[in-house]
Amino acid sequence: MKWLLVLALAAWSSVAAAAPVKVMILDGASAAAYHDWKRTSQIMKRELDETGLFAVTVVSAPPADGDFSNFHPDFAAYRSVVLNYDAQDWPAPLKAEFEAYVRNGGGLVVVHAADNAFPDWVAFNEMTGLGGWRGRDAPAGPRWYFQDGKLTSDSAPGAAGQHGLRKPFQVIVRAPEHPILRGLPRAWMHAGDELYSRLRGPGKNMTVLATAYSDPANRGSGFDEPMLMTLGWGKGRVFHTTMGHDAPALACVGFAVTFQRGTEWAATGRVTQRVPASFPTADTVSFRPDWAALGDLPPPK
Ligand code: ZN
Repeated sequence: MKWLLVLALAAWSSVAAAAPVKVMILDGASAAAYHDWKRTSQIMKRELDETGLFAVTVVSAPPADGDFSNFHPDFAAYRSVVLNYDAQDWPAPLKAEFEAYVRNGGGLVVVHAADNAFPDWVAFNEMTGLGGWRGRDAPAGPRWYFQDGKLTSDSAPGAAGQHGLRKPFQVIVRAPEHPILRGLPRAWMHAGDELYSRLRGPGKNMTVLATAYSDPANRGSGFDEPMLMTLGWGKGRVFHTTMGHDAPALACVGFAVTFQRGTEWAATGRVTQRVPASFPTADTVSFRPDWAALGDLPPPK
């Protein structure tokens, strides 16, 4: 009988290992009408689904001026929450539920304008590390950027958040041994996207994984700005990508792969995914093969 038990245990453990990682994409509002969150959430879901690792549920919060009294997502049922969401504030009980989720080890993925959200929620700004717009200035924390190869901060006052026209730009890897970036080229071209600069925040427990040069010729700061970050908050892991303005930006293989890997890392602390051969190079943008299926998009350029 002993071998039967061993077989049963082996079967159970292989099933357990293959159990999908539950991920919630949280959307429902954007302070900026040009962030088409319904569309970008569907693309994010597709990108996570195709890894075969995740079971993804899209949860839409009430509109910013809506009734939140019955909105209490079961955060603890998920290993990672992806925020594709930008609202001004939440009721205190909902904020407490979300804080408890991250404090107890829940993963958090912050995509693009989600770092504009909740300018006055201290814990949220500690989780994201950096944010922009919505009135942020010196009290939000210093500006953070790379200078002479090192993470540097500047607490001089000034509005937080700026970007130029959406053009392709080169992403420079700063932490090549981090699980999210292991095996990726040290430099790669991201498709046309908003290159966020002059973000401010507490920057506590923050590791900048990758930067991009913000060109003053395109309303940039002249600094190497944080593009990908990881943070710790309580027992929770946070992955923050400032990229991902719209569908064309999400159709970049570089966005998709770092998003897929970052979500796995936030959820589990590990990355098991291979880097696809189609990953962009230091001088060439690479679009996903499902570009056309993403809808009525203009041809990639
Ligand atoms: Zn944007």
